[in-house]
Amino acid sequence: METGVALFEKEKPIPPYVRVSATSLKRVVRDIFVSLGLSGFDAEIVADVLVTADLMGISSHGVQRVERYVAGIENGAVNVNPDMKFTIDYGAIALLDADNGLGHIAGLKAMRMAIEKARLHGVGLVLVKHSHHYGIAGYYALKAVEEGMIGLSTTNSEALVAYIGSVERYLGTNPIAFAAPRRNPPPLLYDGALSIIPVGKIEVYSKTGREIPSGWVISRTGEILHGDARRVYEAIKSREAAILPLGGYLEEYGGHKGSGLALIVEIICGVLSGAAWGIHVGYTTVKNANVGHAFAAIDISKFMDLGLFYDRIEQLINEVKSLKKSPHVEKIWIPGEKAWLTMQTRLKIGIPIHLNIFRKLEEIARKHGVLFDVEVLEERLT
Ligand code: NDP
Repeated sequence: METGVALFEKEKPIPPYVRVSATSLKRVVRDIFVSLGLSGFDAEIVADVLVTADLMGISSHGVQRVERYVAGIENGAVNVNPDMKFTIDYGAIALLDADNGLGHIAGLKAMRMAIEKARLHGVGLVLVKHSHHYGIAGYYALKAVEEGMIGLSTTNSEALVAYIGSVERYLGTNPIAFAAPRRNPPPLLYDGALSIIPVGKIEVYSKTGREIPSGWVISRTGEILHGDARRVYEAIKSREAAILPLGGYLEEYGGHKGSGLALIVEIICGVLSGAAWGIHVGYTTVKNANVGHAFAAIDISKFMDLGLFYDRIEQLINEVKSLKKSPHVEKIWIPGEKAWLTMQTRLKIGIPIHLNIFRKLEEIARKHGVLFDVEVLEERLT
């Protein structure tokens, strides 16, 4: 594995954009949430999850989402001072009631509990109810990796995705993240939605004036929508369209597998946790959104010596990396590699933020009396 010597970005920035330092961006985002009533401790967590997404090249779940959380706080849907309590704590399992607080705060608390449980029992499983959107699933799975453990994280979300054979929004985009440690970075991190794309991607395309390719979205009349992202995003928001599950709308390409896996997430995160599922899950600006999450940690050392695990996973990765390469790609990647290289690059040269998103953030900061002192390292207007 190359050690990030060459600059690499998983998501190529599209002008006009500014490149900003991660630390200054995080400070401003933190201050915005503090100005809205979150404690400094909680605001720091939210800012860290959002800026980590941008560092990893996941702009769909980065600071462009500040607007959404602020709206949820302003209309009282999000509790800025939640009393999050473990209402079940039994052996290797626990259930956290997030009291309508932001999912990032609940997520970190629950993942830390799963890690503690894994240290004691070899495995820990913690479910969360009465939560809100938690951002990138991988953030939490990586917390287990910091402890030399395997981490898993998943969540349901507002219903946006068509179940196989239907044209209605019923399932969440329901990401699953799995992270495993390696002897040297990057850790293996698989983190992806169970829909063809997360809705945040369509949101970013609409904010930055891009075109939606065919195969992502189906209308209520069964037409596959593409083209102008603003129009497609509006159709989804007004329930005139739904995102397709991983594999698409036909069994031929595995649409039943994507929607089947998403259904499993609804059962674990919604039905079993006591949270809502499917169409009952609310958006961030909805009172009692009742989003559910699940977190698991596996203590590798209870199965085998950690050094042996590192040898074995390295062998697996080397075997995959040495497979005969398809002529259609430049390189064979391991999940998490591109995100890690992007992070190393952006820690060095800054995070590109599209000008529309940057201006919106500035507007939010000014509205809440927060000094918008984000350090701009580069400006690319054309
Ligand atoms: P992507 O399709 O970008 O990536 C999915 C996974 O595949 C990543 O782990 C990625 O690793 C890996 N990957 C990408 N290309 C390759 C390749 N060529 N070879 C091997 N592995 C590869 O993810 P999504 O767009 O589906 O999701 C983006 C984010 O959105 C995730 O963080 C997810 O948790 C979040 N999300 C959150 C939701 C919520 O409700 N909270 C809902 C939906 C999504 P790498 O990153 O290294 O490229």
